[in-house]
Amino acid sequence: MNKGKLIVFSAPSGSGKTTIVRHLLEQKELNLEFSISATSREKRSNETDGVDYYFLTFEAFKKKIKNDEFLEWEEVYRDNFYGTLKTEVERIWAKGKHVIFDIDVSGGLRIKRKFPEQTLAIFVKPPSIDELKIRLKNRKTENNDKINMRIAKASAELATAPLFDKIVINDTLEHALEESYALVSNFIKE
Ligand code: 5GP
Repeated sequence: MNKGKLIVFSAPSGSGKTTIVRHLLEQKELNLEFSISATSREKRSNETDGVDYYFLTFEAFKKKIKNDEFLEWEEVYRDNFYGTLKTEVERIWAKGKHVIFDIDVSGGLRIKRKFPEQTLAIFVKPPSIDELKIRLKNRKTENNDKINMRIAKASAELATAPLFDKIVINDTLEHALEESYALVSNFIKE
């Protein structure tokens, strides 16, 4: 593996990290490429296989765990597995690009531990749990049970924020985008 950088964005679901990651990917001078995760969860109607995720069956996912094909993987929600394939990072580094991840807090911290010097781990913090609930409801991609499950997990995830290199508070999107751009742009110059 070569010396590309790894930019990790982690946050509770609904914090706005996906919007931030998409914005950074549009800034061509940053030379970033998105790490497409593998997942065993169901595809949403607005998602494309091989673009948003590599959608795998539960059995196929398990087989890849057994074959040690993942850099990290997590059962993020019960029976929903998510993971970063080693081949994904190799693919992006081989193109001379930096890798940007949109992954959960445990996965993000695991990448940081594996590549401490090459990784910038950023935690995106929602202004409050109430605000998070509103955002998840407005997104209309999960039913109430799933929203409650995500909120319960969010409280535990917020406690891990100090373990990250940097925290970006997503109070206004404009501010979060600016701050994230500055952090990433400085880090890739190092
Ligand atoms: P969603 O189902 O909303 O797409 O994602 C649920 C959670 O799984 C999000 O917090 C997302 O960042 C996380 N996630 C996505 N891909 C990965 C991955 O490869 N590894 C880990 N650990 N978490 C991931």
